[in-house]
Amino acid sequence: MPTLAETLERFTAKGELYEKIDGNRIRCYACGHCCPIPDGAVGVCKVRFNRGGVLRVPWGYVAGAQCDPVEKKPFFHARPGALAFSFGMLGCDLHCSYCQNWVTSQALRDPEAVSPPLQASSKELVHMALRQHAEIMVSTYNEPLITSEWAVAVFKEAKAAGLMTAFVSNGNGTPQVLEYIRPWVDLYKVDLKSFDDRHYRKLGGRLQPILDTIRALPKMGIWLEIVTLLVPGFNDSEGELRDLTEFISGVSPDIPWHVTAFYKNYKMTDPSDTSPGDLLRAAEIGRRAGLKFIYAGNLPGMVGDLENTYCPDCGTLLVERYGYHIRRYRLSAGGSCPSCSRAIPGRWAETFLAQRTDRPHIQRFTRA
Ligand code: SF4
Repeated sequence: MPTLAETLERFTAKGELYEKIDGNRIRCYACGHCCPIPDGAVGVCKVRFNRGGVLRVPWGYVAGAQCDPVEKKPFFHARPGALAFSFGMLGCDLHCSYCQNWVTSQALRDPEAVSPPLQASSKELVHMALRQHAEIMVSTYNEPLITSEWAVAVFKEAKAAGLMTAFVSNGNGTPQVLEYIRPWVDLYKVDLKSFDDRHYRKLGGRLQPILDTIRALPKMGIWLEIVTLLVPGFNDSEGELRDLTEFISGVSPDIPWHVTAFYKNYKMTDPSDTSPGDLLRAAEIGRRAGLKFIYAGNLPGMVGDLENTYCPDCGTLLVERYGYHIRRYRLSAGGSCPSCSRAIPGRWAETFLAQRTDRPHIQRFTRA
């Protein structure tokens, strides 16, 4: 029986995001770690490795795929109601102790995380998406930056077929990887997990590359939404939330900020679950920082009006939601307020007909 590492080695291709350092040593630029990798070694993510001075990267498989409402990613200002065909691979450059997708993201790092790859071609994935009437192809579940070459291969097919494309990412990027994906990615969600570098180091990363990614994406014309999972006692102090939301607002007050509820998961079982009151307090801090679009997630029906979109100028209700479900949609064609005509930032459809689904459904593959 081959090990997971041996199986995964079959599903690789020559990477593009690296350079030679000296001899057979190379440096990978797919994420903010910028790992120097000697011949025969793997990067921090465990899924990109050096073979004879050539970077091998994940290719030709998924760990799973699912059709999600776009609201689940979450994108609230991009094609509301659309179906997002979502695929993930294996591995991550971080090791968050509360990861909800740890079985796939911590592959090759945590021996308990075992999820075999399912062979797939980019054409096949796009075909499946079209068959389901999806409008968006999303690289998600594990960290998409570390599998950027494969995502770009899939997104080239997806865009040729008229689909939008998205990354759901921790944002630990580099200028090189962002330039590489730029022509192929329309939407980008960054998890801004904290505003304290010491906290980021506990998760296996650094704050600075994430901030750089957040500054770069809007300049590149990629639509950005930010999520902060509010973990009591970890990232929810008044000062940290003030700094975090003032930073986002300084990049642009139009960036939607989703502050979402934590529940005990994986190795993080000490903090209490986030309460509706915690989310309301965080949202108020965000409002004081000047953010115009703040959403509270993971506690449907318990957070007042924080699931809805309102016009920041006249207060008109534009999109009413309950969890992932759209109850009412009142934006004018192309995304403006029907009362005062203010343009609402986002990537809106010309017309909204109906939401495709408000719950995910899993796609079936044959095992490799
Ligand atoms: S993706 Fe990141 S962690 Fe993986 S090898 Fe490249 S730089 Fe290192």
